[in-house]
Amino acid sequence: MWLVVLLLASVGVSMIGGAQSSPPALRVTLRAARIIDGTGHALGRSDVVVENGRIIALRLAAGPLPQGAIDLGHRTLLPGLIDTHVHLGWYITAGGRLHQEGDGDAPAVSAFAQAGNAWATLQAGFTTVQSIGEPDNDLLRDAIKRGVFPGPRVLTSLGSLNERTRGGSPDSLRAAVRSFHARGADVIKIFASKSIRDGGEATMTDAQLAAACGEARALGLRAVVHAHSAESAQRAARNGCTQVEHGVFADDATRQAFVTHGTFFDPQCGLVFRNYLDHKPWFEGIGNYNAAGFAAMEQALPLAEAGIGRAARTPGLKLVFGTDAVAGAHGRNAEELVCRVRRGGQAPMDALVSATSRAAESLGLGLEIGRIAPGYQADLIAVDGDPVQDIAATQRVSFVMRGGVIHRHDPPRFPSATRTPR
Ligand SMILES: [Zn+2]
Repeated sequence: MWLVVLLLASVGVSMIGGAQSSPPALRVTLRAARIIDGTGHALGRSDVVVENGRIIALRLAAGPLPQGAIDLGHRTLLPGLIDTHVHLGWYITAGGRLHQEGDGDAPAVSAFAQAGNAWATLQAGFTTVQSIGEPDNDLLRDAIKRGVFPGPRVLTSLGSLNERTRGGSPDSLRAAVRSFHARGADVIKIFASKSIRDGGEATMTDAQLAAACGEARALGLRAVVHAHSAESAQRAARNGCTQVEHGVFADDATRQAFVTHGTFFDPQCGLVFRNYLDHKPWFEGIGNYNAAGFAAMEQALPLAEAGIGRAARTPGLKLVFGTDAVAGAHGRNAEELVCRVRRGGQAPMDALVSATSRAAESLGLGLEIGRIAPGYQADLIAVDGDPVQDIAATQRVSFVMRGGVIHRHDPPRFPSATRTPR
């Protein structure tokens, strides 16, 4: 019994009611068979020491486990995963349809759904997400931050702008960016091309993108741009936008533009398309979710998979990880890592870097999260197996710590195989 009390006291356990808003004060050591540090390095059996919600030491395991330490046995410990493109506000209603404004769901129903999406995402090992699009994600972000309920760290755009926003003049786009900033947006989301279901061609001019991305930069905000066609993606890159999303039709010239301008690139491999195609009845008949739209996504699949490989093989291209997880895909984010490696041909370690340290850098959090190193936030997950040998191990998350607070700790699946040799 005393051991349980000691563990609870020393690490803090996920609790409701605001109990985990400040990090636990005492020190805890985690020992795992393998460490992947988030920057491309793997270590053998090691100890990670956490204090006040931060990592204070990483060292090869030596001698017996310190008292009160957590032995993760044969598991691999890695930084909490980061998804730079999700939509936590999207959910499927009790009636089996994509939630829409005015469908009769009470605000509390939508709020619980968002909280559930956040929880599922955290349980799947994603400790930070960028949720870009929904206007009320600040309520979710702030509730999680206050410890009202558990979820990943959320960054959000609180909406988006496009070529028609406030009439679309450069001055009015700048004003729109300022108003997002004033409302507390962490990032600006811009639509610079049509949807993939409508062909994906460019919708914003150079002047419009220069105004919107320039104003964001002047305010210290990043600008993330939805762009499918080569032209729209190149416009985003040459006008100083921070990151391009999707880019299904990106060609060599586009990838080169990303390298030249240091633009982060976040293409999707398959989860978002397969989620739509596998669950047509949830979406069919809403907006451009029609026969032509589904056909466009079906056709995009091989292009998207090939595009991952081409991006991964382009020297100097800052390829980051984002799933575009919508309703039905929350908590399945790691499927996209599996797609990237098995279907896109990205090297497993590079895929892991893109979802940890490189994703953190893209969010402007490169010194806070995304690495297992002293000084970093104690965002740590353990998976069963070695994800470098088998990327699907990232779908077998059994331990989740965020900021030093444990949110998941499954018992070993095969107890006899997990005893740590002393
Ligand atoms: Zn999206």
